[in-house]
Amino acid sequence: MHLDPDVPSEARGNGIDGDAVESRARSYAASKGVLFTPMRQRVLALLAASGKPMAAYEIAEKLSDTRKVHAVQAYRALEFLQDAGCIHRLASRSAYFACDHLHGEGETVVFMVCGQCGAVQEAVSDLVARGLRGVAKTTGFRPLRPIVELEGECATCAGAPAI
Ligand SMILES: [Zn+2]
Ligand SMILES: [Zn+2]
Repeated sequence: MHLDPDVPSEARGNGIDGDAVESRARSYAASKGVLFTPMRQRVLALLAASGKPMAAYEIAEKLSDTRKVHAVQAYRALEFLQDAGCIHRLASRSAYFACDHLHGEGETVVFMVCGQCGAVQEAVSDLVARGLRGVAKTTGFRPLRPIVELEGECATCAGAPAI
């Protein structure tokens, strides 16, 4: 993994600790009494290394070498990895990316998606959570899974000199 020492860790698009997420996925599988299959392992490793969101069909394509991997196989692995808390799904792009945070139960995470380089950064916000609950209350809506996605420009792209 290439790490630029001048860039703070939060600003790195691909600063995912692949080993940490893998061991989390393994212990989740063990706790559920299911196998951490090679497919699950390969999908997670690919996402952790890519550092950018990928759609299921892209993942299937990338993993097709000697044997063809079908999108449905990738989907199944992605479902497991989502349950294990190792990846997130970007609803706006139907794409998935690895996450090495340990999110608390019911935590509201804001995904910031850069339209230039495609990197995603995450921030947890209680303020946003409270705001969303307040909005939902006005209509009696019961929120289950709050998803907040911001499209924009990351600090690196915003600061890059225009050529
Ligand atoms: Zn996360
Ligand atoms: Zn960017």
